Amino acid sequence: MNEADSERIGRSFAARGFELTDSLKAADAVVINTCTVRQRAEDKAISQIGRLRKWKLARPDGKLFVVGCAAEKLGRKYIRNRFPFVDEVVGAKSLDKIEALLPDFPTLPDFPPENRHSVQKHTTGQPSPLPTFRPPTPRLPDSPVSAFITIMRGCSLKCSYCIVPAVRGEASYLAPEEILAEAEAKIAEGAKELILLGQTVNSYSYKAGGESVSFARLLEKAAALPGLARLRFMSPHPLFFTDEFFRVFRENPRIGRYIHLPVQSGSDRILKAMRRGYTRARYLDIVAKIREAAPDAAVSTDFIVGYPGETEADFRESLSLIGEAGFSFAYCFKYSRRTDERGLEPDLDEAGMDERLERLLAEVKKNSGAILNARIGRIEEVLPESRDFGRTSANFVVRPERGAELEPGALVRMEITGVVRNALKGRPVP
Ligand code: SF4
Repeated sequence: MNEADSERIGRSFAARGFELTDSLKAADAVVINTCTVRQRAEDKAISQIGRLRKWKLARPDGKLFVVGCAAEKLGRKYIRNRFPFVDEVVGAKSLDKIEALLPDFPTLPDFPPENRHSVQKHTTGQPSPLPTFRPPTPRLPDSPVSAFITIMRGCSLKCSYCIVPAVRGEASYLAPEEILAEAEAKIAEGAKELILLGQTVNSYSYKAGGESVSFARLLEKAAALPGLARLRFMSPHPLFFTDEFFRVFRENPRIGRYIHLPVQSGSDRILKAMRRGYTRARYLDIVAKIREAAPDAAVSTDFIVGYPGETEADFRESLSLIGEAGFSFAYCFKYSRRTDERGLEPDLDEAGMDERLERLLAEVKKNSGAILNARIGRIEEVLPESRDFGRTSANFVVRPERGAELEPGALVRMEITGVVRNALKGRPVP
């Protein structure tokens, strides 16, 4: 979500004649897009803002924006008191306001468009290369082949451990025409894959003029756009799957055969305490329906270990779910009371958390290895994102065998010949 927001902010600058630069010296404006999902991300944002004091001293006419989720959580007052040299603080709920702030940029009248620069920084978990693009054909930070489209903002669920509803607000949905126009524009710029984004992406529903567009209908329309090779979406929530969705998924092979479906725990008791709204059986039923619609589909997930009250027996339910659901991958996290609405203390100490995390990761690794190895010998359609890697429809990374090169953006059939670490190895075939 943050990367998509950063890209959108970058486009607002670009529309006013700015170019992105990775040189702080050359920058007329700096945007720090903050994350608060973990303490480390928030700390990184704070220290990055602190480091910009020097830049601001050297460039008093430059403009420093602090935006995003940590900005929302910490608040304008706190940030301005601690860092008086920050010009604008824009929380995640009001990112659209950045547009209105740009025309006030004090140096604009003095600089011809070709001399304007801005630099964006993410403070999300993974370091992300700084985007460099020139209007009017902005590119995505990580891959020109794949483009994000935000279809909703915020979340109306109340999972006990989650800070998202507090910093991003209630769910709101963008109009389908707006989404499809953005999709067409990104395809025209060269994107071959679109990723529809939302915190509970499949809760999408838009009503206007007596007509209602469901998530399934939106997927169907987007999948039919000319020039598109693949459509993906992240992240769906188990509460919002419908029969209409499974029909559309089955009938449209352009929709990637991969679903990231966060489960968080395999224990009904813990799921209830987390207020996730489903049971293990219901979750497994959805996984079965995904595989019924697309037998090749890969499903990955998120787990939290050490949630308050999680016993060894509860934890074992998470362990056993890995094989039962056949997860291709899982992001595993330790419970943090920091983002928990009730601030509950975990029962486990740090060592106990680490021990469960390690056991869970080992099980995920074992299962992923078996799933990757089962792909050897198959012919897969791969969408190359660079010369040395692409992804299958089920989202497995494929690297070409030594000596072979891929053409970014051009779908290619590849025979899978092996597994190297977490990726497949393959060779193009006619
Ligand atoms: S559905 Fe996701 S974003 Fe919404 S509250 Fe739960 S964990 Fe947070």
